[in-house]
Order: sequence, then C-alpha cells, then structure tokens
Amino acid sequence: MEEIINQIHNLKKQRNAIILAHNYQRSEIQEVADIVGDSYALSKAAKEAEHDVIVFCGVHFMAETAKLLSPQKTVLLPAADAGCPMADMVTPADVKTLKAKYPDAAVVCYVNTSAAVKAESDVCCTSSNAVDVIKALPQHNIIFIPDAHLGDYVAKQVPEKNIILFDGYCITHKRVTLKEVEAARKVLPEAKMLVHPECLPEVVAKADFVGSTAQIIAFAQKHLDDKFIIGTEQGVLHWLQKHNQHKKFYLLSPKLICPNMKKTTLQDVKNALQNNTCEITLNENVMKKARVSIEKMLMVHA
Ligand code: SF4
Repeated sequence: MEEIINQIHNLKKQRNAIILAHNYQRSEIQEVADIVGDSYALSKAAKEAEHDVIVFCGVHFMAETAKLLSPQKTVLLPAADAGCPMADMVTPADVKTLKAKYPDAAVVCYVNTSAAVKAESDVCCTSSNAVDVIKALPQHNIIFIPDAHLGDYVAKQVPEKNIILFDGYCITHKRVTLKEVEAARKVLPEAKMLVHPECLPEVVAKADFVGSTAQIIAFAQKHLDDKFIIGTEQGVLHWLQKHNQHKKFYLLSPKLICPNMKKTTLQDVKNALQNNTCEITLNENVMKKARVSIEKMLMVHA
C-alpha cells in the first residue's frame, strides 16, 4: 500500500495533477486525495484548480461535470465503468418527450445526470440548492428529473409550484426501509438521525435533519450532540470519524453502500495517472448547452 501511494504521489507531481475524491469513495482513496467532497464541491474544486490534470475518483457524471466546468483540463475517471444507475435512468429523448408534453414547464435536472441530459434541461441543481433553484424560476410547472424522491422532498418545500416528477431513484439510498429507521431509533434513542433526500419519503419524514452529503457533514460537525445515525452512503463515515474523534457515527443501514462508488482502487488511480485511462471527452455542442444549465444554477446559488 505504501509503495503504490508513493508512486501515485510521484506521478501526480510529474503530471501536475490533482486528485479529487467523492465522500462515498473507499477510505484509502479519500486518504490519497487532495480534496474530498460531494459532487458539487469537487466540480468547483476542479474548476478552480491550477493543475493540468484532474483525477476524479467518483462516478461518470461527476467527471463529466468537472470537464464541463474545466474544458481545457484533462479529466480522468480512474474506474472506467463507474457509472450511476440513477443518472442512466433518464435519456435526452425522455427529456424531449416531457418537454413536448408540458411545453410551458421548465426542466430542472439534478446534477446526477449525463451531460447530454443537462444539455436538454433549462437549469441544473444539486440536493442542497434544488429548492432555491426552483423558487427562482418564473415558471409554475417544473419537470424535475430524474430522482422522484428528491423531487418529492423538494415539492414539499415549494408548494406554490407544480412539480412533475420522473420515476428515477438512487438504488443505494432507496434500499433503506422504515423498519431500519425504527430499529435504529430503538437502539440509539439519543442519537440524531441525518438522512439524504434520495431516501424513500417515509424514511425522510422520520429524520431529525434532511440534507445533501455536504449538509449532513456540516450538521454533524457543528451540532453539539455526540451520536449521529447517518442515512447516506457509508463512505461519509470515514471523513466524519477522522475529523470528529470525540463523536460517534452509526450507519443507518448496512445496505448504504454504492457499488459504483466503491469501484475505484489505488491501482486504478495509478493507472489513470500513468496511462490516461478513461479520459473524459465531450461533444462541443453538448458541452456548450450543458454548461448553460450549470451556469444558470450558479447564478442562483454560487
Ligand atoms: S449513491 Fe446513488 S446517486 Fe450516488 S452514484 Fe451511487 S447510485 Fe448514483
């Protein structure tokens, strides 16, 4: 392990590269990374970085978003087959069909979508800014793609809008059941329960706090309680425990492990730096249109 970590550090220097790792990555990947964060924070970090090469340890749509925001940089996804099943649930053709059905509606796409889907959407959003983005739109009717659970949560915060939901979902967060919530409450009645809005609505309804990955981390950091039940992907616990050693964190369900997020290994990171594996390339036209939807989001919520 030590040898491969040293090789990665040397290659990083040779290529003027930065390693970005999502909070859901394996512990050893988070440890070798320069920056650990959620998809939005990492895309911003990719944009601001002065490096030539971005090694994005995450899933495909995240590396694409980094490329959209930093077109002049080489963006590498070390695990070539790390996709996001939720992002794959919606296609550009689906968006066109919805637009034809609801011509007066604005299309708001979750950042967990391909660049081609972003290109067909009016504005992009994340789980932390979705409410603000939708409130800022002049349209009453909003097509929200692809996550029905996040869409349902957002719809409850903006009752003045008519939110048209798509039927996508995160295979990982959807696995958490109400039974597991009740069981966790019985075992740890004093702990605060922090849940991601990609979970089922009945799970979200029972949480003490609902927020994006970054918001869950910020809440657990600031809050004076010392026990937290975490209702998002298991990788978050590594960072939380490392930076809050006097607090205890418990995973709400053992099923909260995203198989795609766990695909990246140290060997993949080394290969990416050595052989440029899975460089992200995007069609110019798609890139131009998709960037507009991201820039509109940034105008509301930088
Ligand atoms: S946790 Fe869910 S939304 Fe995130 S990459 Fe995995 S499947 Fe996709």
